[in-house]
Amino acid sequence: MIDAHIHADTRPYEDFEIMAIAGVEAAITCAHDPLKMSTSAVVMDHIDRIMNDDVKRAADNGLKLFLALGIHPRSITPDFEMILDKLPSLLKRDDVVAIGEIGLETASSSEKDVFKRQLQLAQELEMKVIVHTPRRNKRDITKITSAIIHENINPSLVLVDHVDNSIVDFMIDFEGMLGITVQPQKMSPKGAVNLLDEYGDEKFILDSDMSSSPSNPLSVPKTVHQMRLAGFEEVEIEKVSRENASNFYGILIE
Ligand SMILES: [Zn+2]
Repeated sequence: MIDAHIHADTRPYEDFEIMAIAGVEAAITCAHDPLKMSTSAVVMDHIDRIMNDDVKRAADNGLKLFLALGIHPRSITPDFEMILDKLPSLLKRDDVVAIGEIGLETASSSEKDVFKRQLQLAQELEMKVIVHTPRRNKRDITKITSAIIHENINPSLVLVDHVDNSIVDFMIDFEGMLGITVQPQKMSPKGAVNLLDEYGDEKFILDSDMSSSPSNPLSVPKTVHQMRLAGFEEVEIEKVSRENASNFYGILIE
């Protein structure tokens, strides 16, 4: 299994072992806002931690980490240009599979500006992108997010994450991929199963988004378990829990 969106920096060492024991082989850890991101130096230290300490902490427990780097909408600092300048060289590392997570939280003009510029960078580098959708005003802000994606990048490079019942009706026709985040207070494993039952397995990739918010490192294995109980075929389970992510991000796991 692949857990396609986590925040490894917020999690204890032991979580990676729990995931590996449950059959999660790899995860993508995304840049976010673990601290008050008051200057770009703080954001760069956060990225440095992801690229070094967290990769090692997970590997020590048998979990292969891949990375998504970028400026989260809640991490926009007054001097964010410095990070945009440094991003292209950071993205060159082999285990960096996407720019992310990026997107809109409140749809302020600075969020839109930083989001557009990172989408344009992804298009230029032909990199995949992980796009956040917020908890508040989710429907309205996701519509703005989707319009900005279409104006700035080939949507087939983009995964829109945290898709739930409030937005799936208009996101199902999106040309890229869709993430289902199984997380306490967001979506239960059974909720994910119902969504997959209704909308099919072609476009979806499962993740836990485990962070300092209420989270479960076993979200993906538990959803797989619920899919089996609900009678899904193994090929369908394989798609949403491994193959779609491995194809989209070009992740090879031995
Ligand atoms: Zn996240």
